[in-house]
Amino acid sequence: MVACCGLTASHDPRIETYLSRTGYSGGGGTNVAEIAKTLFNMTFSTLDEEQRQKVITTQELSQTWENKHHLVPPAVYSRRCTKETLDLSPHLPLPCNECLTVYKSRAFKNAIRRQKPSAKNYIHTNHRFRPKVLGEIYALSVGTKELIEEQSKKSPFVRYALGVLQGKYDDKVFEGLTKAMLIRNEKEENGIGLQNFKYSPAYDEFMNIMRITSPSAYRVLREWFPARTSESFR
Ligand SMILES: [Zn+2]
Repeated sequence: MVACCGLTASHDPRIETYLSRTGYSGGGGTNVAEIAKTLFNMTFSTLDEEQRQKVITTQELSQTWENKHHLVPPAVYSRRCTKETLDLSPHLPLPCNECLTVYKSRAFKNAIRRQKPSAKNYIHTNHRFRPKVLGEIYALSVGTKELIEEQSKKSPFVRYALGVLQGKYDDKVFEGLTKAMLIRNEKEENGIGLQNFKYSPAYDEFMNIMRITSPSAYRVLREWFPARTSESFR
């Protein structure tokens, strides 16, 4: 016998998509509407916060499978997994019967059938399905804490960076300047200059116009901003 491998992408590629889409720790079980009716004889949306939390806890405990995002490969296990399965080496091991039962269930089939949402839709993902604590731990480990913390969102630099990533701006000259400044600082940290750096075309053109308009102003400009030498334009 070997350890049950659970349900992974090698069993069904859609499992990988499902796990990359959901932040939830499991699935299946009784739906919240039904639990709200049983516990309070009310619809979920009319419950107060405390009642809602009770329903959510009950739902979580009724789940039939667990999502183990952190395993390699990421896997889904039945809550009743027998933990062992037959050793079929050199072939891939089969999940245990309990895990296979989850795979065959209608709830799981529905869960893995859904398409991965676009990045935009992630923003609107139900808060309940976003484990806050896990998100914070993840942010710490990948070094994006500064970007995510509320305080830093007030920083114009973070706001600008986010705007660029979201394609909000169309200022190629300024983008070229930011890029050149950034690369120059990075190179300076490593003790190298901007030789062979390829300026972005819009920025380069802007600088050339400045040079033609006023060579002396261009010299002053070059003391502050990264730009080619006058000679290199010829
Ligand atoms: Zn199993």
